[in-house]
Amino acid sequence: MSNPKVKRAIEIVKEQRYYDSIQGLMSWDIWEGLSKEGQPYRSEVSGYFTKHALNILKSKETEMLVGELKELDDSAFADIYEKAAVKNLIERYTKAVQIPDELQVEMRKFTAEAQRVWQDCIKINSFEAYKPTLKGLFDLKMRVANAINPHANPFDVLCDSVDKGIDTAEVGRIFAALKVGIKDILDQIKDEHAAIDDSKVRMKVETKRIRDMAYDVNTLTGFNYDCGKDSETVHGMCTGVGPRDSRIAISYRGDPWGGMFTMLHEGGHGRYNYGSHPRAIECGVWGGVGGAMHEGQARFYENMVGRSYEFIKYAYPTILKHFPEIKDVSVEDFYKAVNKVTPSLVRIGADELTYSLHPIIRFEIEKEFFNGNIKTDDFMELWDAKYEECFGMRPKNVKEGVLQDIHWASGHVGYFQSYTLGNVYGGQLLHKMLEKTPDLYAQMEKGNFAPVNDFLYEHIHQYGNSAYTPKELIVNATGEELTEKYFLEYLRNKYLKK
Ligand SMILES: [Zn+2]
Repeated sequence: MSNPKVKRAIEIVKEQRYYDSIQGLMSWDIWEGLSKEGQPYRSEVSGYFTKHALNILKSKETEMLVGELKELDDSAFADIYEKAAVKNLIERYTKAVQIPDELQVEMRKFTAEAQRVWQDCIKINSFEAYKPTLKGLFDLKMRVANAINPHANPFDVLCDSVDKGIDTAEVGRIFAALKVGIKDILDQIKDEHAAIDDSKVRMKVETKRIRDMAYDVNTLTGFNYDCGKDSETVHGMCTGVGPRDSRIAISYRGDPWGGMFTMLHEGGHGRYNYGSHPRAIECGVWGGVGGAMHEGQARFYENMVGRSYEFIKYAYPTILKHFPEIKDVSVEDFYKAVNKVTPSLVRIGADELTYSLHPIIRFEIEKEFFNGNIKTDDFMELWDAKYEECFGMRPKNVKEGVLQDIHWASGHVGYFQSYTLGNVYGGQLLHKMLEKTPDLYAQMEKGNFAPVNDFLYEHIHQYGNSAYTPKELIVNATGEELTEKYFLEYLRNKYLKK
């Protein structure tokens, strides 16, 4: 019999999740069905539900309950899922009362306008024109951070709201080591990779062919389409509308392999969304912890599974069924082609090796800003200098430079670390999986994904939006503190060992 206070907390959390589901469905439908003229009414409806959900959170009853819940010790919880629900309610309540309504409204309005300005500035290739908007955005984020915790470093606060329990100093150290390690690998393989001829597999085809192939390839990994649906959109994403209802949206750009890896990536998010333990659903904490852990699951299926030689060998007959035009390309050549390392100025579509450097650059710039060392006006100069340092190239325009990501314009500051950190989590989880199942990749080559899927379910997915912080999940799963060692080891094995 659950503690009555815990029981009430679960009821409120579940109710909040119902509101989230409505919002998730409505935002997914923005790409699926909403007409242009339908947008103002949709915003009105969305605002109505947001207000209702917030009213419940900010009620006297929730305030009192949260005060009482904070006094509970672990003996009040029947299991880890009840503890997660209580933690979730306390976090939601705290967030709702910390950031004043006016500031939240201001932020929403500003980012809507900022995204428009961002698009215009890309068109006219002007960072100069974007400067006031960028300054406004970062100033607003500073105010948000100060509202949440006026005593902490604002960058720590913002990163923590994305990746719970994150230690940005530690992440900075991990990233510095990664940068050195990745650049070292890159220096050794650059010329050899530049010589790889991938022309036979490069093609532009219609969306339907890509989608049907990507769907079948994703199914091979054990992705359950009874718990998820895919569709086409302008940018890739995955929304967990319900505990067994993951909506995958993919932007197909004519490149079959880009589409295939995106499906595997979003499929990783999708699995984490639908893979919660029944008790996590009963307690309203299904769907996974956000930020780096979610990214880590996606990047694991995209790269550590999807781009591996063994998986590609297993999937190749399926790929050829849809793309007979590459039947003369051997598995080895196909593997090399889709793993070709080509340093580029653009994050989206970057190869597996150099990808991690892109978010690191953004993380470093944000950190410098919040530490008071630079102003937003300096971002472009610093950005270009960092690309020169990492890749030996400088952007020719803002589209391939400082304005390439929508994140800042949409208010996602303190977010970029998630991508690279997700890779670090993946490397550490993979190392442990291999310890447990040394022939993990040989199993994948035979089509057996149970060792991967079961491991991730057992240690990560079942807990849903867990009571454990991402760092605790990693320590529990691997028995070690977070380290970049294993991700670097994975990259070295992949690119340097023949
Ligand atoms: Zn992702």
